[in-house]
Amino acid sequence: MPMKGRTTCALPECGAPLSGYSNLCTVHTVPGAIVRMGDSTMIIAAWAVEHEHEHGMVFLNDFAVGDVFGGRAGFEARLKEQGFVNVRLLGTTKKLEAERSKTLASWSGSWQAQYPWHAPTKERVFSDSRAIVLTDIAGDEGDALMALVYRDDVKLKYPDGTARTITINERLDTSASADDLIDLTEISLRAYCSTITTETPQLTVHRVPAGLDDEDTRKWLESLPRIQLVEHTERTEGFGGPVPPAGQKE
Ligand SMILES: [Zn+2]
Repeated sequence: MPMKGRTTCALPECGAPLSGYSNLCTVHTVPGAIVRMGDSTMIIAAWAVEHEHEHGMVFLNDFAVGDVFGGRAGFEARLKEQGFVNVRLLGTTKKLEAERSKTLASWSGSWQAQYPWHAPTKERVFSDSRAIVLTDIAGDEGDALMALVYRDDVKLKYPDGTARTITINERLDTSASADDLIDLTEISLRAYCSTITTETPQLTVHRVPAGLDDEDTRKWLESLPRIQLVEHTERTEGFGGPVPPAGQKE
């Protein structure tokens, strides 16, 4: 008993009869949880996905899988277009429960056409920054794990050269102070470190002195030990320059 009134597969142009509780045929059906609403049923399928070092889950009902995306392959292609990697359909309860037991990203849930990272990027000026948090963790290329704390978000830069922005709405309410943002930054940096090393990272917080204009803030950042500002043309998300590993001379 699929969605009331439906007798054929939700994939446009398929036309095959439906399979069990599914809104898809036996060929196109996806595994998942059966959900009953009144006289209708649908299957909610779950995918494990990753985006910039965060693990999460995305759910979609089988009618949408067929009708909107033309099947599982079409939906998975859309997820990849949206920036997800390591996209895996969770076909068994065991896999689903294993994934649920992990720490899941805040964007987990029903599939969305727009994710936080699709929002237009704000024009950033140096005077928007409140603090920079340095660590002694660096990658093979010499890129250090560090974070730039702005007045309303935090930009994390990873040792592999990638970056991620945590927006204030994602984790804190909008009245959060610079201290709250710095706390959040330290938690995020330590959480990341725990995935790559058993050592406890040394974090150094440099707060931007109050009342600096844009040019003064830039000079202040450049005056910090181990910091060198580099224009990254190839990495739009980039900030800061390569920082030598701890204990190594510049
Ligand atoms: Zn079909």
